[in-house]
Amino acid sequence: MTPSTGEIKYYRVLFKISGEALMGSRPYGHDMGIIDQLCKDVADVYKLGVQVCIVVGGGNIFRGASASLSGCERASSDYIGMLATIINALILQKFLEKNLVDSRVLSAIPMATICEPYIRRKAIRHLEKGRVVIFAAGTGNPFFTTDTAAALRAVETNCDVILKGTQVSGVYSADPKKNEDAVMYDKLSYMDLLIRDLNVMDASAISLARENSVPIIVFSLKEEKIVNIVKGRGTYTIVSDYK
Ligand code: UDP
Repeated sequence: MTPSTGEIKYYRVLFKISGEALMGSRPYGHDMGIIDQLCKDVADVYKLGVQVCIVVGGGNIFRGASASLSGCERASSDYIGMLATIINALILQKFLEKNLVDSRVLSAIPMATICEPYIRRKAIRHLEKGRVVIFAAGTGNPFFTTDTAAALRAVETNCDVILKGTQVSGVYSADPKKNEDAVMYDKLSYMDLLIRDLNVMDASAISLARENSVPIIVFSLKEEKIVNIVKGRGTYTIVSDYK
């Protein structure tokens, strides 16, 4: 699809969707209404001709770190967590299809019967052909998170920006749900995030984005639409080399 130039600021984006965003107000699993809405939002961006990558988490099903606290070996628990992200990727693909978006799931852990293995050149080719690419199984390695996978895949596929959807409108000085004096920042540097430990993404993800100058946009999944953000509009915090 050819992008309708002029109004678009970011032509290739990586959208990080946490597992929790898929469960809505449920304590676990999937809220299909929420997932459908998320995929409709992706469809709006796709129709503009923007190339979209998605990295999905698995926290709505399984988190390796929590399971390891209950005595399971961390590496084994993390593999289960990575499998959870594959389930989420396949569900996202179904809902993207329902919204007439062509997509491919590429897994860092090969699972040839249900999706393609992750091959960087293949991913770029899919994007060029106008398919949304959903990266599953994180980095394929235990002891990492899907935030780090998001930064890694964004760098590998030359994305213009990482879009990190959260429960709040951007990065705040403190948790806005607990502290009414918390202020939201319009822009921050990567070092601000790292030094102040502002709890947006893990440090390895931020460092990777910083070393490769990929900006991170933090926004509310409920109150903002990614179609606005790719046009450079809306409410969010942008994390970049800004000093
Ligand atoms: N995980 C992993 N390596 C990765 C990405 C994820 O081992 O590169 C595992 C880890 O156990 C993690 C789980 O998959 O807890 C789900 O990912 P994450 O917690 O990042 O999901 P989110 O918080 O975004 O829902």
